Amino acid sequence: MKKVELAEHSGFCFGVRRAIKLAQDAARKSKLPIYSLGPLIHNRQEVERLRGKGIHVIENLSGMESGTLIIRSHGIHPKLLKEAKSKGLSIVDATCPFVRKVHQIVALLKQDGYEVIVIGEKRHPEILALPGVKVIEKKSDVSKMRKRKQLGIVSQTTQTIGNFNEVVQALLSKAPELRIFNTICLETVKRQESTRKLAGRVDSMVVVGGYNSANTRRLAEICRRAGTETHQVETADEIKPAWFKGKNAIGVTAGASTPGWLIKEVMKKLRA
Ligand code: SF4
Repeated sequence: MKKVELAEHSGFCFGVRRAIKLAQDAARKSKLPIYSLGPLIHNRQEVERLRGKGIHVIENLSGMESGTLIIRSHGIHPKLLKEAKSKGLSIVDATCPFVRKVHQIVALLKQDGYEVIVIGEKRHPEILALPGVKVIEKKSDVSKMRKRKQLGIVSQTTQTIGNFNEVVQALLSKAPELRIFNTICLETVKRQESTRKLAGRVDSMVVVGGYNSANTRRLAEICRRAGTETHQVETADEIKPAWFKGKNAIGVTAGASTPGWLIKEVMKKLRA
């Protein structure tokens, strides 16, 4: 009998849980469908479930002239918020408070004359929502930068501490004055830490979550770095028994955007 163990911290984080609750509450109260600009969370199966509850995804505001817009936990760029308000849309703001804190730090740094760098992924919605910042993804991006007078540094909330440290280290030579804010959120740290620990004591890891979810991909990366055979799946159907031949202990973890019902299905299939 193989042992299957779930990471101590996995699945929905506080911010995602809150966004889904706000969206579902709004959908219950409204007679009309409500919309999120881009998927509410990076999980196709959960987005599909929410569609059944009247929460739809739109790619831009051009076709939306009335109704309710839900702002995702990633936040929204001020220009888009202005556009939504000018159309008279009803707005439900589900920006995660930890993301909002990053916006506040960036604003204060700019006010104090710092050029702001965010360590994160250029195309991630959380980063696209931040106006007037320079995005650095990895330490090799730093070498191309010219020297600055003052640098303010923040992080995408779901970065790994390892990448954050590497980039900060490289940035130290780029300005005589730096103000560094580690804005990786505690929920992310807890998921990454418990994944690392679990990956270190099992033969094989299964990471559950959307292929479009950056924080899920990062968990898979952590498992691989621990030297453990790792499989990422979106659903239980993707699991292949052959992966676990000769393996005794299997670990399971899931990104902050993975709903509990998908994790349960994976656990059930693995235990069976
Ligand atoms: S990962 Fe952290 S910052 Fe992002 S939505 Fe979840 S709680 Fe908020």
